[in-house]
Amino acid sequence: MVPSPKSGTGKGPETARELDSPMRLSYSAVSSYEKCPLSYRFQYIDRLEVAPSPYLSFGRSMHSALQWLYSRKVSEPPALNDLLLELDACWESDGFCDSEEEDSFRRHATEVLTAYYQKNVADFRLPLAIEERFEIEMDGYALSGVIDRIDRRPDGSYEIIDYKTNRKLPELRRLREDLQLPIYQIACSKTWGISPSKLTFYYLIPNQKYTTKPQDAQGISRVLERLNRTAEAITARRFPATPGPLCPWCSFQDVCPERIKADSMEEKYASRYRSLLKRRDALLEAIAELEREMTQQGFSPGGRSCEERRDEAN
Ligand code: SF4
Repeated sequence: MVPSPKSGTGKGPETARELDSPMRLSYSAVSSYEKCPLSYRFQYIDRLEVAPSPYLSFGRSMHSALQWLYSRKVSEPPALNDLLLELDACWESDGFCDSEEEDSFRRHATEVLTAYYQKNVADFRLPLAIEERFEIEMDGYALSGVIDRIDRRPDGSYEIIDYKTNRKLPELRRLREDLQLPIYQIACSKTWGISPSKLTFYYLIPNQKYTTKPQDAQGISRVLERLNRTAEAITARRFPATPGPLCPWCSFQDVCPERIKADSMEEKYASRYRSLLKRRDALLEAIAELEREMTQQGFSPGGRSCEERRDEAN
């Protein structure tokens, strides 16, 4: 475990309740706002569902397997076969269009994890922390996140590591502008009083690391400015649509005014309205299915039943 939080800061859900500000930002939220404020609004304010995808399931399964790899009680690495059995056990099956697609992603995950193991097993060490949550009080908002791994290096310094499942490394320019590792640097310093000497993205598919030095005081103040700007814009409820090359991968195209093709405003509104009703019906259906499953297993879903909610919604 990393050192206990410094006084006045902390981690975990308790801290969120202690904070006066209701706004909570994470790296993903800020990055989503910077790409398209409207898509941020759909996801984090309206809380519309993000469609499951093979890539999300692949990424989550890989993270779980790596979490298992480094959660050992002894400092010896497990056998590769045990790691691959763990990947099987924690594999997430959401978002695949059929079993053929899922099998192909699963085979790919096995290859990627095997290559990772082979490259890293000789230097296996237990990390200082894995999946470490933090939540820090900022100027008018809370900054939260989960750090994949913090290593204590042989020379006693610290390295922050975040796993990525992109196919290849992004352009250097984009990596330099990215906020994730600087946010983790801030979290380490404010929460545990640690100043890391290295910040690393580990790109699992090409099995390559991108390591950078920590930000200096000027760099940190630029990061804080960007975070504060985002927090202010959200507080002012500025959510303009920003169409761009990422739109075809956006989960909210069915309700985005920029993506709906229609001849008139009235048709556009009608189309968005129909899409939202469809999303609501799908959600109510999923709740009903879960209620049935819980009842079958002898658990009480509690609260109002889906039928009651549906009647109320209509
Ligand atoms: S489809 Fe494009 S413009 Fe619309 S919300 Fe998504 S990213 Fe933004």
